[in-house]
Amino acid sequence: MNMEFKRKLPFPSEVKQMFPLTQSVEEAVKLRREEIRKIFAGESDKIALIIGPCSADNEESVMDYITRLVKVQEEVADVLLIIPRIYTNKPRTTGDGYKGLVHQPDPNAESDLFMGIISTRELHIRAVSETGFSCADELLYPETYKYLDDLLGYVAIGARSVEDQQHRLTASAIDCPVGMKNPTSGDLSVMMNAIMAAQHEHDFIYRGWEGHSFGNDYAHAILRGYVNRQGVTHPNYHYETLLYLAELYDKSELKNPGVVIDCNHANSAKDPFEQPRIMKDVLLSCRNNPRLKSLVKGFMVESYIEDGNQPVDGGVYGKSITDACLGWEKTERMIYEMADWR
Ligand code: PEP
Ligand code: MN
Repeated sequence: MNMEFKRKLPFPSEVKQMFPLTQSVEEAVKLRREEIRKIFAGESDKIALIIGPCSADNEESVMDYITRLVKVQEEVADVLLIIPRIYTNKPRTTGDGYKGLVHQPDPNAESDLFMGIISTRELHIRAVSETGFSCADELLYPETYKYLDDLLGYVAIGARSVEDQQHRLTASAIDCPVGMKNPTSGDLSVMMNAIMAAQHEHDFIYRGWEGHSFGNDYAHAILRGYVNRQGVTHPNYHYETLLYLAELYDKSELKNPGVVIDCNHANSAKDPFEQPRIMKDVLLSCRNNPRLKSLVKGFMVESYIEDGNQPVDGGVYGKSITDACLGWEKTERMIYEMADWR
């Protein structure tokens, strides 16, 4: 192979031994996961709000952000369940650019995947132990899931990975709800096939093992908008698309029909300030149609301390270095509004 094998990385069991979970962290994850599961099982009509920066680029500002969510969660606990985004690995359209904490624990330093794996586990542990939130991450590299499988409350498969077999089979082995995004081209059948694959049992190769997965009953859809063949961005959160998705679910034999609306990305044409409006539009669709009210399980929002984004070396505390985010004040307002609208 045309590559240098730089060093052997520790096994997940070794990293877990180095950074074990305390009993209270274990219990917090269990409790939170059960609340999240109930939403996707239709046993709770709370709305899941998967919210946080596009990328978890800096431990202090991410913890600062998540800690602010604790008070808000208490206020809206009867209607909303907050699942902070701690996204530690970023898909890059051309392969260039900041690839996330797992590659670069310091975004301005060289790549260091050994430290990246450790920093990622430490950050997810810190989030649970200081806030009680079991958080969300993207499954970009199926083999790194095992370093976090005792911590995550929610997993998303991104628009660029959703057609990939290893992602789908790994999703079938994940212990918490997994959202399958529509692909960047917008073909909803790709997303539905991914949900079906994740809900089934499989034999497959995983981290050097011949394994057997038991299927994930809570695999569901995430609509994130798409870009057409002419490069034009199209949203897919509107009433008609949601009804069409409900029909696709009717025609399928999938368990626990559900969808999370990603309010940013191609749904907002990457304008983060559109997110509160999109959320209200979807909640209005739900008010108008009980079928949609039960189908829509949650929202995904890209939010951070500061509005917008900056270059990787921009240096502004709490400002995204990947997709532009909604800042804290607007976020807080949006969450309270959301709780009123539900
Ligand atoms: C994201 O959630 O930041 C992301 C990369 O999403 P998508 O896969 O929809 O582009
Ligand atoms: Mn993003």
